[in-house]
Amino acid sequence: MIKVAKFGGTSLADSQQFKKVHSIVKNSDERKYIVVSAPGKRFTDDNKITDLLYLTHAHVRYSVPYGSVLKIVEDRFKLIKEELNLKIDLDYEFKIIREELDNKCDEDYIVSRGEYLSAKLMADYLDCDFVDAKDLIFFNYDCSVDEEKTREKITEILGKSSKAIVPGFYGSYPDGSIKTFSRGGSDITGAIISSAIGADMYENWTDVSGFLIADPRIVDNPKQIEKITYEELRELSYMGASVLHDEAIFPVRQAGIPINIKNTNEPENPGTVIIRDDQANEEYAKEHIITGIAGKKNFSFFYVHKEHMANEVGILKKALQVFENRGISIDHVPSGIDSFTIVLPSESVDKVSHEIVEELKIKCRTENVQVYKNLSLIATVGIRMAYQPGISAKLFTALGNSDINIRMIDQGSSEINIIVGVEDKDFEDAIRAIYNAFVK
Ligand code: ASP
Repeated sequence: MIKVAKFGGTSLADSQQFKKVHSIVKNSDERKYIVVSAPGKRFTDDNKITDLLYLTHAHVRYSVPYGSVLKIVEDRFKLIKEELNLKIDLDYEFKIIREELDNKCDEDYIVSRGEYLSAKLMADYLDCDFVDAKDLIFFNYDCSVDEEKTREKITEILGKSSKAIVPGFYGSYPDGSIKTFSRGGSDITGAIISSAIGADMYENWTDVSGFLIADPRIVDNPKQIEKITYEELRELSYMGASVLHDEAIFPVRQAGIPINIKNTNEPENPGTVIIRDDQANEEYAKEHIITGIAGKKNFSFFYVHKEHMANEVGILKKALQVFENRGISIDHVPSGIDSFTIVLPSESVDKVSHEIVEELKIKCRTENVQVYKNLSLIATVGIRMAYQPGISAKLFTALGNSDINIRMIDQGSSEINIIVGVEDKDFEDAIRAIYNAFVK
């Protein structure tokens, strides 16, 4: 069994957290490849190292002395080193960083140093190999990952090591210069390594014990999700429930590797396992009528009605073109016999919704176009819902009993989710009603 374990920023925030990672990794032969983020916040008002490094670079860009900001970064790393009694020569590392800054280095280089030093410290502490991500992850100049070269180098270099620490978040361009992923990108590093090495499990260690069935700010003590399929997760994260970087899912899903979301502060909790869609067998389905509930506020609904629309060819295309011409992406288009509604986040039409209404009237040749705002979408997700009579009845009864008016209903043909639109003011009550009906 080979596991790749990625630890996020809160798992490396200080020497206490380093100790926890040490005890999770040290005596586990399975956890062979360890990917680390830069130290994150130790308490609410603390700074993430990566943020401080972005700030350091901003000082350089605007020719403001960067010394005091970089000193905060240096002090944090030195404190971890001292408290853990490590050997690493941080004076030397920071001397190089200062030289690079004085030579006006790229932003990507400087912000990657958080992960780089975090990995150096951890390799020292665990007494195992440090492998620089610039030698493992390769980017093309169009910013895409050179998958072939990356896979080749990962198998070649990591294959030789029985335990290696790799910094997350970055790789290199063909000329050797550093290129980072988008923020939170250490998740992607872990996923790429898992896929290339053919890991049996990708563990993603963070500060929560996996996913909860509903948002704990809305539902009191919601139950934990033990298992979820990639497809279900995709539906839920699209609706705002998110622990993992979006792009991190793809490489492992493609390779069919399960992801286990685990909590560094509570390692005995099994967390949530994200499984392949085809691993969701009978037994899995029995336990889960619904897997999760997620939602977002602040949508706009453009309602278009026209007599005899049902017989008109191409009217929907004309309406959609109004949005396409403005580069606005659409979320849902539920339809009736002589009407349809175009649903999308309000922020993307904030200043132009009245112009859009007028354009829709002209393009669709109807006066009957309205825009409704302050609406929420709530997705109830679960593969067991497919081909199962009575689920939507249960959901709508729960909402009806709580006096919640449903403004829209959408169910994809895969039937693994039911999306309802409600007024923003009813959002929290609706989620609680659904949770109570299906889970409590
Ligand atoms: N340290 C980087 C960030 O804060 C990457 C990561 O933590 O995944 O975005």
